[in-house]
Amino acid sequence: MHDDINPEECWGLDTLAIRTGHHRTAEQEHGEPIFPTSSFVYGSAAEAARKFGGQEPGNVYSRFTNPSVQTFERRLAALEGGERCVATSSGMSAILSTALALLQAGDEIVASRSLFGSTVSLFDKYLGKFGITTRYVELSDLAAWEAAITPATKLLFAETPSNPLSEVGDIPALAEIAHRHGAWLAIDNCFLTPALQTPIALGADLVIHSATKYLDGQGRAIGGAVVGPDKLLEEVFGVVRTCGPCMSPFNAWIFTKGLETLGLRMKAHCANALQLAEWLEAHPAVERVHYSGLASHPQRELAARQQKAFGAVLGVEVKGGREGAWSVIDATRMLSITGNLGDVKTTITHPGTTTHGRLSDDQKAAAGIREGLIRIAVGLEDIADIQADLARGLDALV
Ligand SMILES: *Cc1c(COP(=O)(O)O)cnc(C)c1O
Repeated sequence: MHDDINPEECWGLDTLAIRTGHHRTAEQEHGEPIFPTSSFVYGSAAEAARKFGGQEPGNVYSRFTNPSVQTFERRLAALEGGERCVATSSGMSAILSTALALLQAGDEIVASRSLFGSTVSLFDKYLGKFGITTRYVELSDLAAWEAAITPATKLLFAETPSNPLSEVGDIPALAEIAHRHGAWLAIDNCFLTPALQTPIALGADLVIHSATKYLDGQGRAIGGAVVGPDKLLEEVFGVVRTCGPCMSPFNAWIFTKGLETLGLRMKAHCANALQLAEWLEAHPAVERVHYSGLASHPQRELAARQQKAFGAVLGVEVKGGREGAWSVIDATRMLSITGNLGDVKTTITHPGTTTHGRLSDDQKAAAGIREGLIRIAVGLEDIADIQADLARGLDALV
């Protein structure tokens, strides 16, 4: 294993993103290689025995370790400021592997209500089958988090800022509550990435990623990761190694390439998003814009304290309820109508009938998912073109 730089030294984020963890071979290649192999060979029976027995470091089988995957893991761990990273086949398998590693029957999770839909299904439908209970609270209501904790609570789990309403959870305060009750705090850092927020530095124990989103940034591969202290990550590694939700070498290579431009892309995403949010807020067909970077956002100060910038996902409430929202979406010609996000291509969706469509009317009302709400994940096209694509439908609503 060869690093261009020692990640323990003090390097900037972009330098770490470009130069950490390169496994350089004898060919002295400049670009990071892909190792598409299921297994590895040895010079002797004795060497094989030492590597299988763990007395000598080295690869055995790509479900356990693979050099391309390790490059991605070392790079993401350095960016998040964590001791270790374990890569997984998807964001969901990162969450599943964390739960399998840290929890057992009878344990409880306290989680924010505004989680990614599949995370809620995983907690309720699948972990629930094995006697793990989850309670949901308002992300920003610290007293509610505290009140939901019992002696059986082992894990606090949140996404911040939330999707699609951009609510902000106070990470240092949540970490303090978790630790006072002997629980761990895990933050799903998908929406901001380590370029904009490093939860471990703010007190969280674990960071979860869907690499599928901004880490790749171009919507080309599914993957995930968990970052945190060696002690916990050794348990997560055990689950991935044994149960098999490992990342493929090819996907790891794509994500490694993605990380190299992460800082640059996130700056550009945020600049486009802020400009679009301000323009939308001033448009007469728009009732409200939810974006933590706007002066009108009630938690802007908290967001500015724990984030370097505000991300690129906006909630926009337009006039005319569902009909109005659908007409704005259908009037676009360039934007992608899809539930995905974290892509150079701007995406647009109606949460009430797609990402949050399974919620009952009462649940939608409690979650603030109104009929006129549109979610826009702002990409990197020219901002004038994104605005023009939205203006067509919005102007018709006035
Ligand atoms: C997409 C997403 C996930 C799940 O990741 P997959 O890679 O799709 O499995 C988890 N959390 C958040 C916030 C997401 O946006």
